[in-house]
Amino acid sequence: MIGVLGGTFDPIHYGHLRSALEVKELFNLKEVHLIPSAMPPHREQPNTRATDRLAMLKLAIAEQSGLSADDRELKRPGPSYMVDTLQSIRLEVSTETPILLFIGTDAFLHLQSWYQWQHLFNLGHIVVMTRPGFKQPEIDPCFTDMHTDNPTELALKPAGKLYFQAVTQLDISATDIRNRFAQHKNPGFLLPDTVIAYIKQHQLYQRH
Ligand code: ATP
Repeated sequence: MIGVLGGTFDPIHYGHLRSALEVKELFNLKEVHLIPSAMPPHREQPNTRATDRLAMLKLAIAEQSGLSADDRELKRPGPSYMVDTLQSIRLEVSTETPILLFIGTDAFLHLQSWYQWQHLFNLGHIVVMTRPGFKQPEIDPCFTDMHTDNPTELALKPAGKLYFQAVTQLDISATDIRNRFAQHKNPGFLLPDTVIAYIKQHQLYQRH
């Protein structure tokens, strides 16, 4: 089983990192690929270059085995659709290998607007991680066939299930971190010091 956590990571923070580590251990995953979105299709474009976001991600996980910085979306032109990303990962693993796509509750609320979202379930399972400020939503009837309360089912099939997983609640967001930098406040303990040093060195997030 392998895991995938995509995001803007503008910048990566302990909300992402703690969640990634926990789901890696919970599901006994060989690896979790953290994949910065080069051109996020479903939100405002980040001001920060994808190469800077990738560099910060690499610094954040430097000491952590089992979490990897995956730059495949930076190598693709056009909008970074998750369905293309999962498809390319699917080609690298056996057809039986379960792929777990992790998304936060906030992202799940918009899943049905993602490009070819139904096809995601042909390529992997979707695991929704709890996030402070977003309670677990009612399951839309269109997910009834996919939804399971039994995590062992995820190991039995390569794809097709929807599961909700509680993770340690860290009320941290990249938006809040960017605002703190812009206001010259200390963002310490919200993200790794190595990432803070990179942001300062490259003078990121100076303005709102
Ligand atoms: P922004 O504030 O810029 O929207 P963000 O903090 O939400 O950024 P993203 O890079 O957009 O970070 O998030 C990537 C993925 O990680 C999303 O699926 C998101 O739901 C999830 N995520 C982000 N922060 C947390 C957190 N604190 N706890 C759990 N999941 C999180």
